[in-house]
Amino acid sequence: MNRIALFPGSFDPFTKGHEDIVLRGLKVFDKIIVAIGYNSQKNNRYFKIDLMVEKISATFKDFPAIQVITYSELTAEFAKKHNARFLLRGLRNTTDFEYENSIAQVNRYLNTELESVFLITSPQFASISSSLIREVHRYGGDVSQLIPYKL
Ligand code: ADP
Repeated sequence: MNRIALFPGSFDPFTKGHEDIVLRGLKVFDKIIVAIGYNSQKNNRYFKIDLMVEKISATFKDFPAIQVITYSELTAEFAKKHNARFLLRGLRNTTDFEYENSIAQVNRYLNTELESVFLITSPQFASISSSLIREVHRYGGDVSQLIPYKL
């Protein structure tokens, strides 16, 4: 059976925490689609979406089971189009849990075939967040230890 999972997110930017979830997800799924969501009506990203596609693709160049794409629609609909029956998400803390819980309920309501699957963060990445990286980068700080590619 071909188990396809969508790993949706803003990935602004993609972090070592995200990379860890994808690589560990490969033990569970045959194929993982890293899906960068964006709002076509307003562009409020810090890192350009094309840059992220390029960097994430380069990060996983040796993994044919990992695909990187962008989307601008309901995640549940997008998953259906790509025959993905699983949504992969990461959990760092109770704040993530509260947020992920409500998203998972909505996605189930929209697409009953879709199962959300959560991996708990590895401890060394628990404090890494995209917002933290944006803040450090904005003020010229070194983020190289927090991301799996060179900016
Ligand atoms: P979104 O905008 O949809 O929350 P993000 O790009 O912030 O997307 O995160 C995508 C997924 O990765 C979410 O499930 C988030 O909880 C998870 N995640 C983010 N950072 C980490 C981390 N350091 N370790 C594990 N999971 C993480």
